[in-house]
Amino acid sequence: MSPLYTSRKVERFTESVIREMTRLINQFHPDDGVNLAQGFPDFAAPREIKEAACAAILDDVNQYAITWGTAPLRNAIARKTAQAWGRAIDPEREITVCCGATETMIASIMATLNPDDEVVIFSPFYENYGPDCILAGARPRFVPLRAPDWTFDPDELAAAFTPRTRGIIVNTPHNPTGKVFSRQELELIASLCIRHDALAFTDEIYEHMVYDGEHISLATLEGMAERTITISGLSKTFSVTGWRLGYAIAPPAISDAIRKVHDFLTVGAPHPLQAAAAVALALGDDYYASLLSDYRARRDYLVPRLAAAGFVPYQPAGAYYVMTDISNFGFPDDVAFTRYLVKEIGLAVVPGSSFFPSPAEGASFVRFAFPKKMSTLERAAGLLARIERRCLPPTIPSVVRCTNTDIRVGIGGARCCAKE
Ligand code: GLN
Repeated sequence: MSPLYTSRKVERFTESVIREMTRLINQFHPDDGVNLAQGFPDFAAPREIKEAACAAILDDVNQYAITWGTAPLRNAIARKTAQAWGRAIDPEREITVCCGATETMIASIMATLNPDDEVVIFSPFYENYGPDCILAGARPRFVPLRAPDWTFDPDELAAAFTPRTRGIIVNTPHNPTGKVFSRQELELIASLCIRHDALAFTDEIYEHMVYDGEHISLATLEGMAERTITISGLSKTFSVTGWRLGYAIAPPAISDAIRKVHDFLTVGAPHPLQAAAAVALALGDDYYASLLSDYRARRDYLVPRLAAAGFVPYQPAGAYYVMTDISNFGFPDDVAFTRYLVKEIGLAVVPGSSFFPSPAEGASFVRFAFPKKMSTLERAAGLLARIERRCLPPTIPSVVRCTNTDIRVGIGGARCCAKE
């Protein structure tokens, strides 16, 4: 279609590479492919919540719910969060249920930012945050997280806050690196938000997958409750990414604004699934403990096998992804490598460049997702052993770590090699 018929905002988007990889594996290997690209579970959701969803539909819970979420679901979210945070949450005025954390984030950003406001985003970042800012007319300012432990430079973060800064997006546990932000890091972020009178948009969708360290909600730090929009949802914790249930917890005035945007975007989240979500959130501690131990076993299975196959994996402290360095394989870049993997090997992963502001920064990385049955991960391990090393550049470092300069050495080596 002629560009005359598409908006200037949309012209600045690229297609979601994560979802493109799912399409490609289905196209090239519909029967035997393994998809470790898009982060969704290939195992069942808990039986009791599926039964609750079926019961709600059979009970004719089939019409719109109240826009900001059913009372039982908001009450369940308030109870769970109050227990974790040690303070009461008002389900009537501080909680908005949306269609997934994805819609919750865009509704929150559109409800609070004006054109030309600046938003600080750590890079690499989950790909939706870029288009979210474009849709709101806001300008992202990126602050790098650096391998191997994905820390940031406090001075770089402080310098990213300007008089135009209106907010920061904090995703912990972090997609794609698995970083879990420490209390010290969050305290620094909080102090900058307070000093610059900025909002924090947190994406805590992986809050129950923390293998090392602890999950801390920024909203619980002093002075942050009044300026934080805490975003989470049911997708990852209850293995129901297709149900599209997320929520925001924010002070009443901000919640009111988010509710208005959410109303005009989608009217409301699926009503019968909200009934099942209230049941899910009432599950006890045992549920979360077994979710975590299953995910830890998946991580501990995949990471050493990636290393054995020639990747340099960065062991995730949380979430369900492994970021890896691919320099050892001698491909021109991450996109060439992922296309080779999806077509020739039957394995879908996400090219690192989809998580960085410029493709060059991500050219030596790919991301694996591991919310999969052990049998799927075993099939993936079999495929990993078949990946060829196109050649080993003589100058390539054995481990690509820490600084941008080192990473460039890795990419440069690979490019050299591809020309030979
Ligand atoms: N958050 C998941 C990922 O990063 C799924 C993204 C999506 O397709 N909505 O893979």
